[in-house]
This record gives sequence, structure tokens and C-alpha cells, in this order.
Amino acid sequence: MSRLGQLVSYDDCKECRLCCWFTKYELWETPVITDIKRAFIKEKYPETQFVSREQGGSLFVMKETAAADKKYSDIADDIVFDCPMLDKTGCKLGQEKPFECSIWPYRIMSQEDKLLISVSTLCKPMCENSLEKVISHLKSGLAKEISDYAKTNPGIIKEYNDGYPILMYI
Ligand code: SF4
Repeated sequence: MSRLGQLVSYDDCKECRLCCWFTKYELWETPVITDIKRAFIKEKYPETQFVSREQGGSLFVMKETAAADKKYSDIADDIVFDCPMLDKTGCKLGQEKPFECSIWPYRIMSQEDKLLISVSTLCKPMCENSLEKVISHLKSGLAKEISDYAKTNPGIIKEYNDGYPILMYI
């Protein structure tokens, strides 16, 4: 389930899947999987491999892939890393995708002692919305949902990265 509402269409997400593969510089972006979600995925897809994080939760072991597919044509690296849940029709987890995936391109980040919500400008359909519309969407309940989720799953809070425009402090 995506929590982006009207901001990005289902078809845009299905077509793009940019948030489901990573260059080596973007591996810090891979979603943190809760223990409950990990057990669910392991039961459904037993071949899936994870690494446990010291701070709690797990990460997927990504699939190293030669960047031959044309969807990778804009990048300079020879190797990319696909999420193991990604198949030809999109995310195999559907409505059960990790929370972070359901809010991407929003990110919750920490900057010194403050928490903020930022947005990745890699998501082109998202960037076609006005700033006012994006902020209004966050204020309509999603910002609180992200903040509440992060309280019990702090692993989703990334250190602030300069490339991410800040939308609001929470
Ligand atoms: S879990 Fe699904 S939505 Fe999240 S990165 Fe993997 S394929 Fe994409």
C-alpha cells in the first residue's frame, strides 16, 4: 500500500520502480524490515535473505544485477542492486510492503536533535505536485503517522542528507 494518496498514481509507481533498486551509493536507503514483517516474508518467500541490524530490524540482502536493463540506462555504475521483492510486475509484497516503501519518496531524518520529513527529488511524479499540495498532504495525517511509526521503529530515521529538501520539522 502506498501512502502517497493522489500525489503519485498507481500506474506511475508500477511503471517506474526506481525506489526498488539501488546503486552502491544508495544502499543506505534500503528499507528497514521489522521482525514481524521479516517473519511474514520468510514464510511466503523462504529464499529471501536478510541481515540483522544492531539497532533492531533487518535489511534485505539485495540482488546484485548487471546494469544491462534499459531502466538503468541513466546511471554510470556497471552493477546495481535490486530488492529481492521486486519482480517483473512490481513489488511482490503488494499491500504488505515495508512502511518506508509505502511512504517513499518521503523520508524521516534526524538533523542534530531535530526530526524532519524530507523528500527525494528522484521521484519525478511527486515533484510535479506543488509544494503547497505536498505539505497539505503531510499535514492531513501522514506526518503524524510517520512520526508515530518512527517512535516504535527508530531504524527508519536516517541521518540528514543534504540532497533532500526539507518539507517540515516534526
Ligand atoms: S519491498 Fe517492495 S516496494 Fe520495497 S524496495 Fe522492495 S520491491 Fe520495492
